[in-house]
Amino acid sequence: MSNNIKHYDFLAIGAGSGGIASANRAAIRGAKAAVIEAKSVGGTCVNVGCVPKKVMWYGAHIAEAIKYSEAYGFNLEQTGFEWSRLVKNREAYIERIHGAYHRGFESNGVDFIEGYARFVDDHTVEVNGEKISADHIVIAVGGRSIIPDVPGAEHGIDSDGFFALNERPKKALVVGAGYIAVEIAGVLHALGANAHLLVRKDRPLRYFDRDITDALLDRLKQDGPVLHTHTEVSKIEKDDKGLLQVHTNKGCIENVDCLIWAIGREPATDDLGLEAAGVKADEEGFIFTDKYQQTNVEGIYAVGDITGEAQLTPVAIKAARLLAERLFNPAMSNAHMDYSQIPTIVFSHPPIGSLGLTEDEAIERFGADDIKVYKSQFAAMYNAVTPHRAISTFKLVCQGKNEMVVGIHGIGEGMDEILQGFAVAMKMGATKADFDATVAIHPTSAEEFVTLR
Ligand code: FAD
Ligand code: NDP
Repeated sequence: MSNNIKHYDFLAIGAGSGGIASANRAAIRGAKAAVIEAKSVGGTCVNVGCVPKKVMWYGAHIAEAIKYSEAYGFNLEQTGFEWSRLVKNREAYIERIHGAYHRGFESNGVDFIEGYARFVDDHTVEVNGEKISADHIVIAVGGRSIIPDVPGAEHGIDSDGFFALNERPKKALVVGAGYIAVEIAGVLHALGANAHLLVRKDRPLRYFDRDITDALLDRLKQDGPVLHTHTEVSKIEKDDKGLLQVHTNKGCIENVDCLIWAIGREPATDDLGLEAAGVKADEEGFIFTDKYQQTNVEGIYAVGDITGEAQLTPVAIKAARLLAERLFNPAMSNAHMDYSQIPTIVFSHPPIGSLGLTEDEAIERFGADDIKVYKSQFAAMYNAVTPHRAISTFKLVCQGKNEMVVGIHGIGEGMDEILQGFAVAMKMGATKADFDATVAIHPTSAEEFVTLR
């Protein structure tokens, strides 16, 4: 190796959830480590993902609480809502997170390098005209929103653009049917925009359990963004007032001041120079790895969204830390990520939690005779005293004679905080009898999971 090239034991490309976690853990285990970042430390999750989203969701939560406060005896006069103040406080919080990351790098001894990295060969990248080599390189470059190929698509924004909005849109149209579409449309509605959600099929979140999405549809009808099903955008025109006329197969949606594309995300590998390193990706650009996060090239790994596996922050972090442990901690030389049984929450209104198999998936895998489903539909006490008598739906999918719990699903107030503990139980192989043997905590929504009949 030439002397004028900076050399590391471990180099992460991308300082998002995966890159940061891997570089820190590698350094903690004694490796000389660095992480390269083209934009902002923290990546998608911290800057334009989980964190700003959850802050907006909390804002929406407060708006909902104000709406129901009368039933709780409050006489509140709401004189306004300043979107820009919420955004300012949110961004200040994100700045503090940036600071914490930099302090973490300093205390762990990780070098933070600003710039866009491209592979030069299988052990070397180039950043800002400088070559950097490493024994081990992890690709953790994440992804970006897909923008559809329809005339006028450029008049829309994506989730990054949503977080850049400094004022509340008046009439917002969110196109897509996944996590991001449901979450952003819900926040916009709760915070007072005239919000519309456009899905091309019969419902959003089609891959979630059907009972849960049925309940979501009910909630959307009661109080949510206007749902347009079987609707596809064909053309967008911007008029001289700057408003969008959005043409669909079902007619024109007029005078939209904010159109948000949320139709999925694609990998950010096109300009990474993968061919110079010989790293193979699939036709969409997601990088192939084995269960040890190893690509087809010795010494090059991939973690997080770029692998196309469950695109969630804790998944990227866990895979990244296990990789660093495997490489630099002899006691964990076989460590690898278990991609089964990943709990997930959609921050809808109310939130949806899902873990394991849906009822349909379980029946397909094991046969209907081997599956027993327990379901509860109830009015959460929080809503029960308000005119907003919304129904929560919780269900367990159990398999076999001993009723092993293979799926836990719910939509209802508190579901976002409920699922984590039950995920531990499922990971340990809990059966329905174990759930039944657990004493309930009363009065909560969570107790429904241990009192199902
Ligand atoms: P990223 O976090 O995307 O980080 C990749 C980094 O690499 C970026 O900072 C990028 O600038 C940098 N980069 C790219 N190319 C280069 C290069 N060539 N050189 C240098 N740097 C480069 N997950 C959850 O678990 N919970 C949530 O609530 C949640 N909410 C979300 C909301 C939204 C709107 C979005 C978009 C995502 C959300 N996610 C959520 C998903 C989560 O953000 C991702 O799964 C996670 O950030 C993936 O981490 P990563 O390390 O793979 O990539
Ligand atoms: P998703 O993959 O979740 O959903 C996108 C959906 O949009 C598709 O499933 C599809 O649904 C629909 N769609 C696809 N193409 C089109 C099109 N051309 N026109 C209209 N609709 C289309 O993508 P997201 O962008 O919402 O999120 C990306 C990932 O980020 C998520 O999968 C998740 O892993 C992560 N994330 C996690 C969050 C969390 O943990 N709370 C929050 C946000 C993101 P259909 O086929 O039904 O039309």
